[in-house]
Amino acid sequence: MNPNPYIDEDLQALATTARRFAQERVAPGFLERDQTRVLDRALLREMGELGFIAPELPEQFGGLGMGCLAAGVIHEEIARADLSFSYLNLLASLNGQILSKYGNPEVVGPWLQKLIAGQAICAIALTEPRGGSDAAHLRLRIERDGDEYIINGEKTSISAADQADMAVVFGRTGTPESGAHGVTALLVPMNTPGITTNRFDCHGQRAIGRGSIFFENVRVPANHRLGDENKGFVQVMHGFDFSRSLIGLQCLSVARVSLEETWEYITQREAFGQPLSAFQGVTHPLAQYDTEVEGARLLCLQGLWLKDRGLAHTAEAGMAKWWGPKLAYDVIHQCLLCYGHGGYDRGLMEQRLRDVLGFQIGDGTAQIMKTIIARVRAGRKFVPA
Ligand SMILES: Cc1cc2nc3c(=O)[nH]c(=O)nc-3n(C[C@H](O)[C@H](O)[C@H](O)COP(=O)(O)OP(=O)(O)OC[C@H]3O[C@@H](n4cnc5c(N)ncnc54)[C@H](O)[C@@H]3O)c2cc1C
Repeated sequence: MNPNPYIDEDLQALATTARRFAQERVAPGFLERDQTRVLDRALLREMGELGFIAPELPEQFGGLGMGCLAAGVIHEEIARADLSFSYLNLLASLNGQILSKYGNPEVVGPWLQKLIAGQAICAIALTEPRGGSDAAHLRLRIERDGDEYIINGEKTSISAADQADMAVVFGRTGTPESGAHGVTALLVPMNTPGITTNRFDCHGQRAIGRGSIFFENVRVPANHRLGDENKGFVQVMHGFDFSRSLIGLQCLSVARVSLEETWEYITQREAFGQPLSAFQGVTHPLAQYDTEVEGARLLCLQGLWLKDRGLAHTAEAGMAKWWGPKLAYDVIHQCLLCYGHGGYDRGLMEQRLRDVLGFQIGDGTAQIMKTIIARVRAGRKFVPA
């Protein structure tokens, strides 16, 4: 890996250790997990014991108090081996930030310890059957009843829905017209009575999987609220700026390993008496994509660097989120074509292509990201929706 201004010697060393773990322990099960669609809990615990899950979280909760760039370099290495498995790092960083910042420490503390140790998985439940882009108009009902909240409704397309031990759930406590100002976030243990789940047959990211979560008179103590009542959307949603930079790195890392392998392959495979690398029709698309990947990766690292300094990074995060997954998909597609018919067989390239596609939709589509960028640049009142 070439040095760059964001990744100092310490982070470089961290990346090297994470790559060793990812290559030796995560990569061997990449193809099999796509078939079995089950995350290996023992491997998750191993990753936690090594300090590779949400290292940016405060030490009081079991984290290492490192910067978000540290989370970024680990994320890249795990995703390089298996994007679906690295979803666990993503969920831990996104939800860990929300829980540690907005939760009651006595309630969230034990959960955070488990999350960081790789002993628990936390889903994030925002999307509903009626739509995900217009998230502020969600309908899942949350009502206060004494010292408890009662939840009724359905969340859908939730990653790890049927494997999670807890979920951060967004629901409506205000009137239907209250929009973003009537949403409350709760931490919900997934073994709470009244919760059922299902599993979709996904195109990619099959080890983590997606599904619906159904809530029928589900009761959680009021101290499980995250942030203030009716402020769930306005306060808690800021965590997504972090995960968007991570998603960009996650997908681009898969693109980078695909490019590395393809550069090597085209020097070995011959056609018309020459290696494929002799043909500019083969090398120039790869050279162009390699250029774009280098640039896009730096943009993602810039987002994390800004976050580590407490500086605004919403636009950069939106850019990372729409550009990274789209570019990664196009890159892997091109790499797959370089392998000819072999690339079309079940295997590394086609699975990577399926895996990265999900992030052109999950966590918000390109259109929604571009609206967010436009709001930062032009001003929110000039970009209504
Ligand atoms: C792999 C994957 C993982 C996911 N994981 C989770 C998860 O863990 N938790 C969770 O809560 N959700 C998750 N989702 C759901 C995801 O966040 C939503 O699918 C996404 O926000 C889009 O919502 P939608 O599918 O309802 O599409 P819709 O909102 O119905 O949009 C359909 C299309 O219309 C476009 N569109 C909508 N509004 C506008 C507009 N104003 N301007 C321009 N275009 C617009 C969209 O860009 C999209 O192309 C996941 C989805 C996938 C595919």
